[in-house]
Order: sequence, then C-alpha cells, then structure tokens
Amino acid sequence: MFTSLVNLDIQTMIFMTSLDAMLQVSMLVFLCFLVNQYRGIKTYTIGKIFTISSYFITFSKVFPVSATLITAGLFLLMGSCITCIAIAQFTGQKIKFHYFLLFNLLFIGIQSYFVIFQDIFLFKTITQSVFQIAIFALSIYYLRSHSHTSFVGSARFMVSIMAGLILSLIARIIILIQNPPENLYAHTEINSASLLIIFIFTFLMTAGFIMMVCQRLYYDLHQAANTDVLTHLLNRRAMMQKLEKEINHFYRSDRPFAIILIDVDFFKRVNDVYGHDGGDTVLMHLAQILQTKMRHIDSASRWGGEEFLILLPDTTLYKAQEIAERLRSYIEANPTQSNIQITISLGIAVIRQHGNSLESLITAADHALYEAKRTGRNRVVVAQA
Ligand code: GH3
Ligand code: MG
Ligand code: MG
Repeated sequence: MFTSLVNLDIQTMIFMTSLDAMLQVSMLVFLCFLVNQYRGIKTYTIGKIFTISSYFITFSKVFPVSATLITAGLFLLMGSCITCIAIAQFTGQKIKFHYFLLFNLLFIGIQSYFVIFQDIFLFKTITQSVFQIAIFALSIYYLRSHSHTSFVGSARFMVSIMAGLILSLIARIIILIQNPPENLYAHTEINSASLLIIFIFTFLMTAGFIMMVCQRLYYDLHQAANTDVLTHLLNRRAMMQKLEKEINHFYRSDRPFAIILIDVDFFKRVNDVYGHDGGDTVLMHLAQILQTKMRHIDSASRWGGEEFLILLPDTTLYKAQEIAERLRSYIEANPTQSNIQITISLGIAVIRQHGNSLESLITAADHALYEAKRTGRNRVVVAQA
C-alpha cells in the first residue's frame, strides 16, 4: 500500500532513517552545550546515541545476521531505556536502575533463546516490539505522574507521540503475524512502513523533548523575571504590568478597581531586635497571609523593601475598606511562628474616585499610607478624593 503510493525502497529508507537519527543527535548535542541546568538532557542524548548505534549495527551488516539482531536489538532497547531514564530525571522522579538492568537481561535471554533454538525472525521481532512497548508505556507514566507545571503542554505532546508509537508497534505485530517477512532487509511493505514510522516518530519525540526543555526554560525565566525571591509574590515589575492591563480594561469597560498599599510598622525595629533574618521571616509571614487571605481575583506584590501592593479588580471603595481592615486585624492578631508580632498600615485608592491614571492612583494610595503612619500606624486610611 505505502510502497505503491510512494516508492519507499528499503535501501533509501535505511539511509533516511539513519540520517534522521544523526540529525537528531546533533541537535541534542547542541542542546547539551546551550542548556545544561536540567537533569536528563545529557542522558537523553546518550540514549539517542545508543539508538543510532543500533541502526548502524543493523544496516552495516558487519556481524553475522543472528549476532546483529541481538546486538542491534539490545542497543535499540537500551537506547529507549536510557531515554526513559532521561525523562524520569527531567521530570524529577525516582528511578529504580536495577529494574532497567533486569529488563535488559531478560530481553537478551529471550532473544538468545530465539536465535539459538528457534531461529525465526518473527519471534525475535515480536519480542523486540513488546519490550519497546513496555518501555514507551513507562515513559508515558513518567511524563504523566510528575508535579511540574512548567512544561505540561509539551509533555502532553510527548505522551501523544509515544502513544502513537505504541499503537504503530501493536499494528506492526499484528501485520507481522499475518504476513511475516524473512528478515529485516526483505523488500516488503511492512519493513518500509516500519522504517517510515521510526523516521517520523523518533523525530517528533526528539522535537517533543526539545520543546519540553524550551517550555521549562521559558517558564523558569518568566518566574525569575516576575517573582520576588524572598516572598514568592509578584515583584514590582510584574505588578506594574498587571496594573497597566487593569487600567486599560477600565478605560474600555469602565470596570472599577482598587489598590491597597501596605507598609510594615516600625520594621527597622524588627530588624534591630531580631536581626535581618528575623525581618525576612516577618516579610515571608506577611506575604503568606496576604496570599491566603485575599480573594482569588486579587493579586499581591512586593512593591519595595517592606511595602506591598494589592490589586483588587472589580472592587468598590466599600469592599476594599472591608478587605483592608480584615487584613490589618488578622496580621495584628497573628504573630510569626517565632512569635514576632507586627502591625501594618494601609492606604487605599480607587480608580476614578482618587485618580484616572496609574501614577495618580499610586500617589493617592501612598499619601493615604503616609496619613495612616502620621495618625498613629496600625490603621487603614482611604485616599483624599
Ligand atoms: P514606619 O513604621 O514608619 O514604616 O517605620 P519603619 O521602621 O518600618 O521604617 P521604614 O519603612 O523606612 O523601614 C524600612 C526598613 O526595611 C529599612 C530596611 O532595612 C528594611 N528592609 C528593606 N528590605 C528588607 C528586606 O528584604 N529584609 C529585611 N530584613 N529588611 C528590609
Ligand atoms: Mg517602608
Ligand atoms: Mg515601615
């Protein structure tokens, strides 16, 4: 069927598949040099080198046919095992190496048995396919059971490619049983089609792995650029972007929003009494309260040293006051684990009522905060209209 559509002669397919594998390895070697902060990239490359070696052993025909089948088959399986280990490493999961070792030993045992006692190409090929299916299924398990959220999309892509490969292998087993070729070099449609499938799927798998690395890199860089290291809240830059989006939304739809500016009272004293680490603990404690006590739609950021800014979308002045007062009293009543008690002062400003631009709104909240400090601290003050 395939060969009648396009002329996939076996010699060309062997050449193309090997060339494809070499190009994949060269891309992965580059990747190792460019990005080496994640575990698993080097391992994946080594796995691919094993796979490529298996092609060369198969196609160079340097060994006798039976020895070729065992060695090439073993290299192919080891390549898949190593790429599976690479996926487990990349996704940060525990690997039981002795199971992989046993798995490969079992494979050699069965293959040797077929070569020595029952020299039938069909049995050896089916064993190979079954073992490959098992290892791809394990890779799918690793791709689905990790807790990283940073490369979910590309991991799904990898899963679908591997599932496709498993289905093709199953289809291949069924076709082989019905119509067994004599050997791998036989000019049969199933051999050509198998090589075409290897060509397509291994290419997509490597592309998927590179995509996972890129997606994770993007996520990590994005996090680093937008998050405060100490408190894990948004940093000022990220909050500024959020505020710009919010004000643009307000200009378009007239949806109001409020901001609350928070400053820890007498924080210098906290640093003096409990040291800088004690001060840091207070900031983390405060950030955690802000995050857990806010509504889902609100976002908190570390605006400066011990200053925080909260954005409250879709919020009226009355509601903002209620939220601010709730935060103030909760923080007053809940000291840190090491029993450092703090209070905060809060300034509120609402769009339109206290300003029509971001600058005027932030300045209004800042003046309100200053007023809260001036009039005794540990209080909420609304900006002057
Ligand atoms: P006030 O009630 O008027 O706000 O008094 P204050 O002592 O809090 O005064 P101010 O807001 O000026 O104090 C800011 C202090 O915060 C000064 C600085 O040493 C400290 N600080 C800024 N960033 C950090 C940080 O990341 N960790 C720690 N531990 N301290 C910080
Ligand atoms: Mg301050
Ligand atoms: Mg302060």
